[in-house]
Amino acid sequence: MTTTTTRPRGFSARGTRVEAAPPAPGLYVVATPIGNLGDVSLRALATLAAADAILAEDTRVTRKLLDRYDISAPLVAYHEHNAAEVRPRVLAGLAAGQALALVSDAGTPLVSDPGYKLVVEAAAAGIAVFTLPGPCAAIAALTTAALPTDRFFFEGFLPAKAAARRERIAALRAIPATLVVYEAPSRLAESLADLAAGLGPRPAAVARELTKLHEETRRATLVELAQHYGAAGAPKGEIVVVVGPPQAAGRPEASALDAMILDALAGLSVKDAAAVVAAKAGLPRREVYARALKLGGSRK
Ligand code: SAM
Repeated sequence: MTTTTTRPRGFSARGTRVEAAPPAPGLYVVATPIGNLGDVSLRALATLAAADAILAEDTRVTRKLLDRYDISAPLVAYHEHNAAEVRPRVLAGLAAGQALALVSDAGTPLVSDPGYKLVVEAAAAGIAVFTLPGPCAAIAALTTAALPTDRFFFEGFLPAKAAARRERIAALRAIPATLVVYEAPSRLAESLADLAAGLGPRPAAVARELTKLHEETRRATLVELAQHYGAAGAPKGEIVVVVGPPQAAGRPEASALDAMILDALAGLSVKDAAAVVAAKAGLPRREVYARALKLGGSRK
């Protein structure tokens, strides 16, 4: 990997220029924002600024992040179409003592993004691999879905073809964990319909445009979400679907349902509490709303 040695190796943030110390040789896997450029870490900026080069999935996308923070490190394209050809040069540079940063267009490299083979081969060659953790759409969606986070399964993208997608969904049915699925807006409605048909009326959430201007998380059962997006058409932006785990005992006991409602009413209006509990318990929203009204009195 050819690099220049005389360029400035600093970054600017909030009007302050920060000089970055040269990093130790090795491969730096750097997470970058999934929308809001303010979500990049200070350590990520310092590493990108001081690296001998940055391997980027799309150099134009990464250039925007670098420009925002006045970083002038050289960019090298590293994506699924050229990785096999570029990787030997990257590994040779690392073996010669370079510090190279790997980024994807958004979020964490290797998570539905390039980088896996590079990390495998760098590790096998005895090269130090460092992580700079940060944004990841799957984790971000889990934090807004209002679904269990104690155990989750990352599916990535479901197959685009209907038959393969349905087969894959059938394989997901017994997994006792919340499921996290990346989806393209154009396929959202059909995927939700297949998820509803394959998994039943589980509570779910569609998290869209996280960290961006039109961020939205819509929570309901899979059946309701499939109906909504079937009627509304393809939404704009980027999407993560989160699906609650299978209910071991089917419908919750009346007392357990009341406890869930009371818990939700402690922080939410009757309407919102009913929506959240209905999604969680896989019950019709109207039924939960009626019960929440009784338990919560006249609060709206
Ligand atoms: N490596 C990335 C990460 O750490 O999340 C994921 C890359 S994958 C090619 C892109 C997919 O991530 C999108 O199609 C969408 O499903 C999800 N995604 C990325 N940014 C998002 C955002 N701001 N809001 C919701 N989903 C997002």
